[in-house]
Amino acid sequence: MAARNPTTASQDSLAVIAPPGRARVPVLLPYPFPGPFDYRVPPGLDPRPGDIVMVPLNRRAEIGVVWDGEPDGSVGDNRLRPIDAILDAPPMRADLRRLVDWIAAYTLAPPGEVLTMALRSNALRAPPPRTGWALAEPPPEVRLTDPRRRVLAALGAALGAGPLAAAELARAAEVSPAVLRGMADAGLLLPATLPEAAPFAIPDPDHPGPALSPEQAEAAAALRAAVAGRAFSVHLLDGVTGSGKTEVYFEAIAACLRQGRQALVLLPEIALSSQWLARFQRRFGVAPAVWHSDLPSRVRRTTWRAVDAGQAPVVVGARSALFLPFPDLGLVVIDEEHETAFKQEDGVVYHARDMAIVRARLCGAPAVLASATPSLETLANVEAGRYRRLHLPSRHGGASLPALRLIDLRETPPERGHFLSPPLLAAIQASFERGEQALLFLNRRGYAPLTLCRACGHRMQCPNCTAWLVEHRARRLLQCHHCGHAIPIPETCPECGASHSLTAVGPGIERITEEARAAFPEARILVMASDTITGPHAAAEAARAIEAREIDLVIGTQIVAKGWHFPHLTLVGVVDADLGLSGGDLRAAERTVQLLHQVAGRAGRAEAPGQVLLQTYSPEHKVMQALLHGDLARFMASEAAERRPGNWPPYGRLAALVVSADTAEAADIAARDLGRAAPHGEGIVVLGPAPAPLSILRGRHRRRLLLKTQRDTAVQPLLRAWLAQVPTGRGVKVEVDVDPVSFL
Ligand code: ADP
Ligand code: ZN
Repeated sequence: MAARNPTTASQDSLAVIAPPGRARVPVLLPYPFPGPFDYRVPPGLDPRPGDIVMVPLNRRAEIGVVWDGEPDGSVGDNRLRPIDAILDAPPMRADLRRLVDWIAAYTLAPPGEVLTMALRSNALRAPPPRTGWALAEPPPEVRLTDPRRRVLAALGAALGAGPLAAAELARAAEVSPAVLRGMADAGLLLPATLPEAAPFAIPDPDHPGPALSPEQAEAAAALRAAVAGRAFSVHLLDGVTGSGKTEVYFEAIAACLRQGRQALVLLPEIALSSQWLARFQRRFGVAPAVWHSDLPSRVRRTTWRAVDAGQAPVVVGARSALFLPFPDLGLVVIDEEHETAFKQEDGVVYHARDMAIVRARLCGAPAVLASATPSLETLANVEAGRYRRLHLPSRHGGASLPALRLIDLRETPPERGHFLSPPLLAAIQASFERGEQALLFLNRRGYAPLTLCRACGHRMQCPNCTAWLVEHRARRLLQCHHCGHAIPIPETCPECGASHSLTAVGPGIERITEEARAAFPEARILVMASDTITGPHAAAEAARAIEAREIDLVIGTQIVAKGWHFPHLTLVGVVDADLGLSGGDLRAAERTVQLLHQVAGRAGRAEAPGQVLLQTYSPEHKVMQALLHGDLARFMASEAAERRPGNWPPYGRLAALVVSADTAEAADIAARDLGRAAPHGEGIVVLGPAPAPLSILRGRHRRRLLLKTQRDTAVQPLLRAWLAQVPTGRGVKVEVDVDPVSFL
């Protein structure tokens, strides 16, 4: 990487303007240090905020980013080490630097660790330029043979007489490469750098799209106006499943494209987006750029560079797309905004939906949140006037919402040792007879969640976690779904030695599949779970097979709940509707309603009416009643009423501290010390320490504390002051989770 001419360094409007000729500058390194370090500016360099630099760190050279603000000055001039070079790489723009600072400040993660997410995706090294041949001007006086004339003609005919790659030129002129070399030696041809071909075709906003219904048109007009306004705003696009939310926000993307600006769409599960991509292509004529962490590195590099150069007009991606270097972001869409998959739980703990809104604000762009089941957080923001709500009340094209029925398992239980009740079996049979497809949903992988010894009652547990081992019968394994620990299914009980006494308790989808195969031996069954659908290709193939009616019955986990549109699928059976309701999770009810409503939305998306059957032991539960009556608004209102008085989110703020250590004792001591140092004040409540539900995870003992405050209290200063009082060490770790989603 060459050192760049300093005069080409970036200077953008959001940057804190640096005085020229500074002697030292702060440089942020992609490591979990508390902040940037100062480096000396050697003569001849003029580093600006955002410049990518090489600097010495200990004995190594590291890549860092010149940061904004004043150098901290704590290291004396004599001990200050110099910047080695400014790299010839696109500088990090001001809005991305502000995003890094913002996320670090909000989540309490070290800024360098947040920087890693923006730099990791960085294709710092430019791909080597491709070279070819151009006409020499003026051409020297030399003898021209016929082959040479053909070469000159071919180059002259190329648009603008630009350079051509050697192979291409040789083919066009029907000459051998030796002729080209001879012409170069004679001074007729000059080597030249070929222009980079744009890696992404430009989506056409005026490619004919569907005619929108009046409701859809109204929502689309509001979004187009927001895009035209070139200012930050947040819109909630709230419409029942199948109401055409995607078509509507495509109109916002079209408006953004017409302005020549870029659009970012975040999807919760990019691997499951084949149908989305196909629809995008239908609407805009070409595919968008796709971004996620599993891209091959070459594709990553070209995509990153194309985004940076403004040559990727639309990017659809997972959480990490948030950190792409858009020069001119004009729209951010977060589809299925209620999805918890947007929360990143390891490394920097952040919520991609919330940070996408921050990014939109930093770029002065509108954000669109789309969902059939908006989160209470988002609804509260609508109510408070911070977000604007656009509502699509009905399914497109007169498709009706599926009829939903509860199956009370106490009244019509399945046969002993089975999990599908007679009414559900009958409904599946009936839909097969009509030539329609059915879906069975159970959000649990494997064969059985628990393996028990009938002789002594021993339960097979993970040695590293407070969790049972899940049987995966097809793979003959018992596996921990938290740490991955796996053992072959034992023949004898490890506790009492009884042989063939281990028995499977409860169902996973493998077991449901076994039961369905026995009940419907003729049916063509497809299992969709994260361990059978292992990537975008498998997902696309599954979707194709279902659409082509090569499948009669789909059996799946939550991956079948999301966004799919299967016109011939008319029956959805939920095997265990109560599954998500146990446990002390603040949002358990909300999440169950969202998930089951989403699954139910897979039924009857075309002309044939859909039917949804929920197997439950508690039909009177408010979640089942809300689903039965389709009254989500009332359900959310009751959730709000429950959370408001206690200042639970979104009406108050929450942060979790998870203390972990190698021994229970060390974890207890650290948690107790933290508890003693807990902040006090009006409206401040600290709950715990208490053992985490997963009190041992990967061999570490875990204790939790929860800080709850009023909404107008900033929790970050409280947390910083709190953590500063309690020195940890000796293998004790404290993880901070602001706005926790998981309470495990
Ligand atoms: P949602 O995102 O709200 O679930 P979709 O945008 O997926 O709804 O729309 C559901 C189905 O209806 C899709 O197949 C979509 O192509 C179709 N659709 C929606 N709006 C229209 C329209 N105005 N004209 C034609 N088809 C439409
Ligand atoms: Zn485990």
